Amino acid sequence: MYYCPKCDQKIPKERLEDVDARLRERFGVDRLSRLRCPVCDFELIDMDKVRAGGERHVGEIRRQSGLP
Ligand SMILES: [Zn+2]
Repeated sequence: MYYCPKCDQKIPKERLEDVDARLRERFGVDRLSRLRCPVCDFELIDMDKVRAGGERHVGEIRRQSGLP
């Protein structure tokens, strides 16, 4: 699972290729293949690599960015 803390978007790993292909085809966006958020270009977080409790850290980034 990849997560964008800015958009609060989650992208399941098994869907990443699908979504990436669709974005390339429709919008010419290839950010997802570089593991960046297709919407805001923020670096996606690999939730599998985040340790337990890491979600709190994610929330922290979000608060610091000033988004609701
Ligand atoms: Zn984003």
